Amino acid sequence: MAVIIDGKKIAQDILDEVRAEALRLKERAGIIPGLAVLLVGNDPASRIYIRHKENACKAAAFFSREFKLSQDTSEKEILAIIRELNRDKKIHGILVQLPLPRHINPTTIIEAIDPRKDVDGFHPYNLGRLFTGNSYHMACTPKGILELMDRSSIAIEGKRAVIVGRSNIVGKPVALMLLNRHATVTVCHTKTQKLSLVTRQAEILIAAAGRPEMIRANMVSDGAVIIDVGINRMDDGRLVGDVAFSEVLEKASYITPVPGGVGPMTIAMLLVNTLNAASGQMPKQK
Ligand code: NAD
Repeated sequence: MAVIIDGKKIAQDILDEVRAEALRLKERAGIIPGLAVLLVGNDPASRIYIRHKENACKAAAFFSREFKLSQDTSEKEILAIIRELNRDKKIHGILVQLPLPRHINPTTIIEAIDPRKDVDGFHPYNLGRLFTGNSYHMACTPKGILELMDRSSIAIEGKRAVIVGRSNIVGKPVALMLLNRHATVTVCHTKTQKLSLVTRQAEILIAAAGRPEMIRANMVSDGAVIIDVGINRMDDGRLVGDVAFSEVLEKASYITPVPGGVGPMTIAMLLVNTLNAASGQMPKQK
């Protein structure tokens, strides 16, 4: 039976460390880490995420600015706010909540953010740094996945890692991060054939497809580490991951639950990135 990785507890430990470090930074250098969050429109899930981010900023003794903009805000208006935030010395991190309304090009918006303040790690500069193995800001969810494994003393170097999903925000960046940490990495997607043959090779299996409980016990090898990134809301209101938790639990060595696994790590990593930007201590590649 697998060890269940308690992402909620690990994220809370990190938030406590971030708060302590933020208070030290204020005392030592008079710097208060500042995060600006832009929300455009009324997407209900985005509103919830934004509220969690605001609360985390307060708890970590950060300064935060929120911009809640109407659905019909123009690209020009958003770009003007980003330019102002790029110059604002009190702001070290800028986050634009995705998805944006259809009339706004997310690439244009992300590329307007100063890469040093791109705490989401989505700017091509930061993606390029990740690609070359010399990363600067790393995307929060993939970074959180590695942090969960590190804090659970799970070895990465030399392991066969399989990722199901190749999105720009989870699958691809986590693949690069694992490669940079010397795993042997395979990335699967909707066109992958005989998926279970590939997933059964995994010593570390990362499910990030957004398909409820698609990873069954017969797709997993004995003793594999299972990281479930999926968050799927079922018709009855339950949240389930991409992994059939109760059956895979029996075969795995480690497993993350949904909720309470990878989910809480994303905000924790956002605050870590903002703290690093504020202190000028950018993370070194491990
Ligand atoms: P996405 O829809 O952008 O990408 C899904 C990927 O999975 C695609 O590359 C697709 O090819 C692949 N895929 C889909 N069905 C598949 C199948 N049957 N077999 C093989 N590959 C398949 O999704 P995303 O934004 O990467 O998110 C993935 C999941 O992770 C979602 O459930 C999302 O809610 C969740 N998520 C969680 C967090 C968090 O915990 N903080 C953050 C981001 C995303």
